[in-house]
Amino acid sequence: MNWMLPQVLASWAAMAAGAWLGWLGGRAMGAASAGAALGAMGAMGLAMAVDGLRARRLMSWLRGGTDAEAPRIGGLWGEIAYRVERSQRQRDQALVNEQRRLSGFLSAIEASPNGVLLLDEGDHISWCNALAADHLGLNPQRDRGQPITNLVRSPAFVAHLQGGHWLEPVALGLPGREGSLLVSVRGHGDGQKLLVTQDVTERQRGDAMRRDLVANVSHEIRSPLTVLSGFIETMQTLALSEAERGRMLLLMQQQSERMQGLVADLLVLAKLEGGPRPPIDRWVPLADLMQQVADDAVQISGGRHRVELAGGEALALAGSQAELVSAVTNLATNAVRYTPDGGHIRLSWSLRPDGQASIEVLDTGIGIAREHLPRLTERFYRVDSSRSRETGGTGLGLAIVKHVVQRHGGVLEVDSVLGDGSCFRLVLPPSRVRREPVDCAVA
Ligand code: ADP
Repeated sequence: MNWMLPQVLASWAAMAAGAWLGWLGGRAMGAASAGAALGAMGAMGLAMAVDGLRARRLMSWLRGGTDAEAPRIGGLWGEIAYRVERSQRQRDQALVNEQRRLSGFLSAIEASPNGVLLLDEGDHISWCNALAADHLGLNPQRDRGQPITNLVRSPAFVAHLQGGHWLEPVALGLPGREGSLLVSVRGHGDGQKLLVTQDVTERQRGDAMRRDLVANVSHEIRSPLTVLSGFIETMQTLALSEAERGRMLLLMQQQSERMQGLVADLLVLAKLEGGPRPPIDRWVPLADLMQQVADDAVQISGGRHRVELAGGEALALAGSQAELVSAVTNLATNAVRYTPDGGHIRLSWSLRPDGQASIEVLDTGIGIAREHLPRLTERFYRVDSSRSRETGGTGLGLAIVKHVVQRHGGVLEVDSVLGDGSCFRLVLPPSRVRREPVDCAVA
């Protein structure tokens, strides 16, 4: 109300001044009262004209959309302009705050590990994050406003969306690639829907691997157990000679060793999968490691093969000594097991020009046909099951080797020619390789 008093006072002052001037003029002509009345009316007219001009400035500001600064005018119109401008500023600020909240909310949904898609009451796409678009094969900009059932045409999805029973998610394939997707639907607002999509390919693969592992382990353990229980029954029911008893006990011992080997390898794998990454600052001298493996290979071969250790550069590897020894020993043991008597086994290592270290186990054994090579490192994959079992194999050796080398940031390479022999190579990255002083090398 601080505009009112000055305006009233100014009007009164103008009227008083007009009346006084009119009275002065009127008195000279002998009509003082009429002059005063005319002067007052003239002053009032002038005040109204000034007011009209102010109102016009206000109107033209309002018509201009109020983006420009409000006109600085006094009186009632100035007060109106000020109040309109203030409420406009408050509304703009509220809008900015709302937009900030909305974009924060949308970027949080964008960062969600699941796809999120919003549908309006007619099942048109209102909004979706990049992950939902990827999962459903949509283009977030182009497809906005389109009916989702025109774009995701899987009958299972359409029936689920339109069925209205959304307690369970619906399973779909990923568009254009292998994999599975779960889509959950939730109703909200006035007939709108929220869709949450989740890529479950890895989870399903993990479930399948676990199922396969349990089936494989059960299968592997069942055969020795059957043999053992058969022998136990025979020993209980039949009177056996000392020689027969001895033969049976030997076979029983072999079967229980087979189970022990299997359990030991399974434990190694479990430890590798759950264990911490191999250290990057513990250096294992390679020459010592290879010497240890070669000594073991000589012992396992029992003189049936020529085992050679070809010394390479003096190198050390950063990582777990136990894991590296186990990996190279597995390769050397396989070389002995899959090389007929009289064959040659060669262990060597070298530093590649790019700084990688390569550990090689070469044999002149039975070799492996090309088609088996990609599957060799799968658990329980065997090219020749009977030979693997006869020689005490568990089918887990190369799976262990692959795990170890991957944990050290390297790869396992295999070259093999059926009937000619094989070459298994562990290749480790330069970050885990360093040269050692020369006296560490084995010549
Ligand atoms: P296993 O315990 O059966 O030897 P591995 O995982 O160590 O299991 O090896 C998988 C399969 O790869 C073996 O069953 C065998 O058929 C083949 N294999 C591994 N090493 C050699 C080799 N040096 N020469 C020929 N075949 C091999």
